[in-house]
Amino acid sequence: MSDCIFCKIIDGEIASERVYEDDDVFAFRDLNAQAPLHILIIPKMHIASINDLDTSNADTIGKLYIAAKKIAVEEGYADKGYRVVMNCGEDAGQTVFHLHLHLLAGRPLSWPPG
Ligand code: AMP
Repeated sequence: MSDCIFCKIIDGEIASERVYEDDDVFAFRDLNAQAPLHILIIPKMHIASINDLDTSNADTIGKLYIAAKKIAVEEGYADKGYRVVMNCGEDAGQTVFHLHLHLLAGRPLSWPPG
């Protein structure tokens, strides 16, 4: 989508610190990190939010989680622990409407979230 910042990051029109990429998935460091490790994992296909998912996207969603695990292992947080979260809509704090997983690690993460 032409006005989507995450599509522009995938296309290289906006710079990012890439940590992982395959045919379907792109991952990069969050500009406003909320933990020592804060990675955004996104599908290359533009999907606005969880509300737009259907069974045709099931493989893609699985690949986002597999990428999250790979990154957590590579960055050295698999044993200590990490959180993977996806916000959907205004009340959940979604600000960018291109589906993304947040991968957070490197400090104790409280529960319930604020
Ligand atoms: P959310 O609030 O769940 O929609 O998450 C959007 C995330 O995107 C926030 O954590 C922002 O800090 C992050 N973000 C926005 N623009 C950029 C960018 N150009 N590069 C890296 N992260 C970004």
